[in-house]
Amino acid sequence: MEQYLPHPTIATIQNYIDGKLYNPVSDRWIDNVQPATGMVYGRIAASDRSDVEKAIDAAQAAFNAWSKLPASKRSDHLLALADLMERDLELLAEIESFDNGKPLHVARTVDITRSITNIRFFATAILHQSSECHETEPGVLNFTLRQPLGVVACISPWNLPLYLFTWKIAPALAAGNTVVAKPSEITPATAFYFSQLCTEAGIPAGVINVLHGPGQAIGEPLIADPRVKAVSFTGGTATGASIAAMAAPRFKKMSLELGGKNATLVFADCDFERTVSETARAAFSNQGQICLCGSRIFIERSIYEDFKKAFVEKVKALKVGDPSDSASTIGAIVSEIHLNKVLSYVKLAKEEGGTLLCGGKRIELNGGFFMEPTVFEGLDPYCRTNQEEIFGPVVTLFPFDSEEQAVEYANCTPYGLAFSVWTSNLNRAHKLSSELQAGIVWINCWMLRDLRTPFGGMKQSGVGREGGWDALRFFTEAKNVCVKSS
Ligand code: NAD
Repeated sequence: MEQYLPHPTIATIQNYIDGKLYNPVSDRWIDNVQPATGMVYGRIAASDRSDVEKAIDAAQAAFNAWSKLPASKRSDHLLALADLMERDLELLAEIESFDNGKPLHVARTVDITRSITNIRFFATAILHQSSECHETEPGVLNFTLRQPLGVVACISPWNLPLYLFTWKIAPALAAGNTVVAKPSEITPATAFYFSQLCTEAGIPAGVINVLHGPGQAIGEPLIADPRVKAVSFTGGTATGASIAAMAAPRFKKMSLELGGKNATLVFADCDFERTVSETARAAFSNQGQICLCGSRIFIERSIYEDFKKAFVEKVKALKVGDPSDSASTIGAIVSEIHLNKVLSYVKLAKEEGGTLLCGGKRIELNGGFFMEPTVFEGLDPYCRTNQEEIFGPVVTLFPFDSEEQAVEYANCTPYGLAFSVWTSNLNRAHKLSSELQAGIVWINCWMLRDLRTPFGGMKQSGVGREGGWDALRFFTEAKNVCVKSS
């Protein structure tokens, strides 16, 4: 292989089990493709049931000692790991950008920075945890013990690979669980490098195990195993449904963070310039491949034409290009399969009567999976283009005539993840926050995250909440202890 690699080890993505790297038991592998060139640059373990069993054995064996460590010791381990990630921040960013296709500066300032913060946030949160105590009557105390569950499964997607991987495993480990993690087989490289840092940081063997390969071959035996007590999943809604079908009859705890079709509501009294540039960022960040991206933009009719003109100009100025070039605002789509899926929605939007305002085509560049940022208007809010998640750089614009109509349009899909409202009217902002069916409502901002807040979606966007105490509650079992003094 002639190709440059950010780190030689990522040419072969092995499983991390019981503190060591292993080839898959079957010795079967799948190709690893670089989105910016379309080239196969390495191979990924195609793990199956046998690897899953080894990983669960290791996690089960490690649970007793890890769960009995004082919180301060678990915190020390995780903080040591975060320090190593910080030491290797630039390398991790290069690996993430290489493996996923996102611009290097995005990987550096968003993905890896936030991954380190995820670990530090939960490593220190457990130092501040307390539990309730109720004095039922004199001499009777009811208190709540929060105990780790055991072995837990953490399954994460390709769009924010290390960011979402650490968002799950950090609270799971901090709460005293041991983990079998399964990053996406489309972007396994940073999780693989991270597993090597776990050894260097002295995380005890078996506490974290990372399996690579196709979802179903790993997911089914992992979720079915009675030793796995909870499943934390982020990914598509259809996959979430199949995971729920496996986990629910086994009475496992489930946290499902699923797809979105987010609405952006722009009112005539918004801060115009800022709204144009922030809503374009909300639409096209990470090539439109963030579950929080606002892909349906509703604009009050009185400013529709002006906003459309300014928005389309802004989008045309976005630079699609080599992810390692600091001038690129948009990198490559994660895979050819996904690029073709996104392009199929461009075709559908035209068939459904949409008018293409800009973009719409694949860009031929170095053999990579690049695409123009795309804007449509003239589509019905209820058509397929506006109801189904595209998860790429395609957005639609619509005018609306009243607040009621804006709310109806925003709420009219099966999803309910993250909406944004752009207005200077505080009363309207409060009213809409309560009427919008979404787990997150941003007012005059987008993706401004505070890790203490509940994170998740309504309707088909998910079940449960991550973040802050919600995550630590999910990864623990509450036990009521009632003590009566004699
Ligand atoms: P996906 O559902 O295809 O895969 C997600 C993960 O699940 C991968 O690791 C995959 O290997 C695994 N998987 C696939 N089939 C499985 C099975 N049967 N059992 C167990 N695991 C299985 O999703 P994706 O294409 O990687 O990610 C894109 C989707 O993720 C989009 O729908 C996006 O909206 C969603 N997403 C949601 C959030 C959120 O917080 N709500 C965040 C990021 C992405």
